[in-house]
Amino acid sequence: MAIKRNAMKCLKCGDIIESKSVHDFVRCSCDSIFVDGGHQYLRRGFSQGISSDDYLDLSMDENGLYYKPLPNDKRRKKLLKEAGIDERDMV
Ligand SMILES: [Zn+2]
Repeated sequence: MAIKRNAMKCLKCGDIIESKSVHDFVRCSCDSIFVDGGHQYLRRGFSQGISSDDYLDLSMDENGLYYKPLPNDKRRKKLLKEAGIDERDMV
């Protein structure tokens, strides 16, 4: 699947970071997470102690749709809703 947007939001510092090209390595300002890979691959890194509660993945596929959370991932659903992202805009 092609990647249109390679981005994450850090829920510790609030930064939204985006990797725009293959070697564009971007770290959030509190150093908790990074993204890399641009539109080629989704590479992520996390500081020690960072869990899935500490970030939100905002990557999109080639049609500009967000990747849908798993059915049991209520937290991510809630966070996407808070970010103003409609479930109809997800795949
Ligand atoms: Zn951060």
